[in-house]
Amino acid sequence: MTEQTIALVTGANKGIGYEIAAGLGALGWSVGVGARDAERLDAAVAKLRAGGADAFGVPLDVTDDDSVAAAAQMIEERAGRLDVLVNNAGVTGGMAGQTPSTADIAAVRAAVETNVFGVIRVTNAMLPLLRRSASPRIVNMSSGVGSLTRQSTPGAETGPISVGYAASKTYLNGVTVQYARELRDTNILINAGNPGYCATDLNGFRGTRTPEQGAAIGIRLATLPDGGPTGGFFEDEGTVPW
Ligand code: NAP
Repeated sequence: MTEQTIALVTGANKGIGYEIAAGLGALGWSVGVGARDAERLDAAVAKLRAGGADAFGVPLDVTDDDSVAAAAQMIEERAGRLDVLVNNAGVTGGMAGQTPSTADIAAVRAAVETNVFGVIRVTNAMLPLLRRSASPRIVNMSSGVGSLTRQSTPGAETGPISVGYAASKTYLNGVTVQYARELRDTNILINAGNPGYCATDLNGFRGTRTPEQGAAIGIRLATLPDGGPTGGFFEDEGTVPW
């Protein structure tokens, strides 16, 4: 009998993260549902289980060292390893404060704290567990707004001008590439995914795609075969320009 794949999805209580967890659960995987609010965590786990997924709750605030360490300890005790980490938790920081010339530094900092430092913190806490997997995968849920090529090509810009959220996703892309460089001689594949503009809390449900559609790229990168790409940036249609 093959071993059940163990995954952790951060920010999985709703939106795209929830749908990634549901998609991985549908593959028969054991899915850790990372969420910081206990009530919303329990509700998401219950819903995923009702849908047939082998889901378990992982209390997790990606901005908090102790919370992240406790989450790693929990997975260590439960499974002794981690096969797939999906860094999905993200915030805008508040779009009102994101025009560069009038930026609210607190809003910019909030975006970077969660979308960049949170990813580094969680990834490093989980790496010892991932290194015990036969085929470890790390997926960083980025955004098309993080593409400097798109942002600097007149007519191709995506999303509102934002010195916090968009730039945090550019930073995250850079972080993804640096991890890929460090991990190149391992079996760990790490990639960034762009879910596209999806209707979630993040944008007041104005997105034009469903969270389920947005989850597809995360699921694809979580299930890459051995020898698959690493250090790349992908969306449904293929590679996203940096
Ligand atoms: P969402 O519905 O607002 O979900 C964001 C998730 O992140 C929530 O579960 C939230 O938990 C969690 N989260 C935020 N801060 C956290 C923290 N400190 N610790 C743990 N969890 C935290 O947004 P979404 O649209 O699904 O976004 C998912 C990812 O996709 C994000 O990285 C986002 O940047 C990216 N993305 C989204 C779009 C889009 O159009 N929606 C486009 C491109 C990229 P709480 O419920 O506790 O707040």
